[in-house]
Amino acid sequence: MFKKILIANRGEIAVRIIRACRELDIRTVSVYSEADRQNMHVRLADEAICIGPAQAEQSYLNVPAILTAAEITDSEAIHPGYGFLSENPQFAEACAASGIAFIGPSPDNIRLGGDKAKARQVMKRRGVPVVPGSDGPLDSVAAAVKAAKKIGFPCIIKASMGGGGRGMKIVNAEEQIEDAFYMAQREALTAFGSSELYLEKYLQDIRHIEVQVLADTKGRIIHLGERECSIQRRHQKLIEESPSSFVSEKLRKRLGELAIRAARAVKYRNIGTVEFIVTPEEEVYFMEFNTRVQVEHPVTEMVMGVDLVKEQILLSAGMPITAKKVFKPRGSAIECRINAEDPDRFIPSPGKIEFLHQPGGPGVRVDTAAYCGWTVPSHYDSLIAKLITFGSNRQEAIARMKRALDEFVIEGIKTTIPFHKRVLENRDFKEGRINTSFLDRLHKPETPTG
Ligand code: ADP
Repeated sequence: MFKKILIANRGEIAVRIIRACRELDIRTVSVYSEADRQNMHVRLADEAICIGPAQAEQSYLNVPAILTAAEITDSEAIHPGYGFLSENPQFAEACAASGIAFIGPSPDNIRLGGDKAKARQVMKRRGVPVVPGSDGPLDSVAAAVKAAKKIGFPCIIKASMGGGGRGMKIVNAEEQIEDAFYMAQREALTAFGSSELYLEKYLQDIRHIEVQVLADTKGRIIHLGERECSIQRRHQKLIEESPSSFVSEKLRKRLGELAIRAARAVKYRNIGTVEFIVTPEEEVYFMEFNTRVQVEHPVTEMVMGVDLVKEQILLSAGMPITAKKVFKPRGSAIECRINAEDPDRFIPSPGKIEFLHQPGGPGVRVDTAAYCGWTVPSHYDSLIAKLITFGSNRQEAIARMKRALDEFVIEGIKTTIPFHKRVLENRDFKEGRINTSFLDRLHKPETPTG
């Protein structure tokens, strides 16, 4: 087992990893930028090293600085968290070349997970259904037009190397393709360093449902059920749940089998997430493979009684999965992402937290690195806390979430707490009538009662 792990991340996920390490009796090293000197992850770790200025390119994405920090602290492994270097195959390779274990899957697994056009092709070959779309990347506008005409409108143009809901363009007619294609190319090149695009049918009224998988070095693969992530803004998740109220036992079995088939197809090792689109008719399509711990992993932990971060560390140390064969969800869990953002306009609201009171009581979990007096910097992602509630059923989890949101007080900055309260009051949400267009409908009149 590892004796010391360096955490190449910040904020709530760094704190989450430190907690898992403490329980496994592993020492921790935090790295931080000059903007994060006063951060909780710096204070909680056994050791902490400054790796550069505030700009992420010079600190949390600075591979030589991070590897040097690992070497001088005698760290045996690096946990990348999510975001930053977590899905960078060159970083995983650089760790291996320095004799440091990367807590995650192989560089090849990461490379395929990051190349969505290629992953689609691999899945299709292995009998995992994919959304109808282009066969591989598009090399020209003409190729995009041809693919779109074949599958019909509306379509969605996506960046092969895309992520975080960015770089996607919906096209409703042939004459929109050219502009959308060049715009998507430009955005993809700036954001992901590659202008490669592909195209899919844009499906309506769909749900985003993903399956958590665990795979050990012996080739054993299990799944831990689904997470419903359909409450999204601009294709980014805001509220997640497990289990999904839409998923029947039969559908859960199918999703699980497809996720395991997807993981087997790429000889996956470590924890990972297979994302699917699910239509109202229960058709299931592979969307992408995420090769890291997800922001929303706690909802699975709550209903499955598993510590996914500890499992991830154990798998990376070459340990086998010890868990029983089939997990059944117990109760219901919901996560609200609390961002330092204006809740109406969703624009960042960095600044000093003047007062903080965290909710507690039965079935409430708060994953955060925020504290009273801490200044939220403007340089990074605006997620400052994850509020997770657990109940014996969805109704109780929702009631607890409402209660916990009322107890949660953050003063000095704006947060998305008022937004979550609005969603939780919505009748369609309460009754589980959700899909990825839910937020577009939120301000429109609700379905009338009969
Ligand atoms: P990213 O990696 O950037 O998160 P994804 O491919 O996972 O991108 O898509 C993000 C979200 O965009 C999905 O959760 C879904 O809401 C929407 N989306 C993606 N592909 C389609 C599609 N073919 N039809 C409808 N919605 C889609």
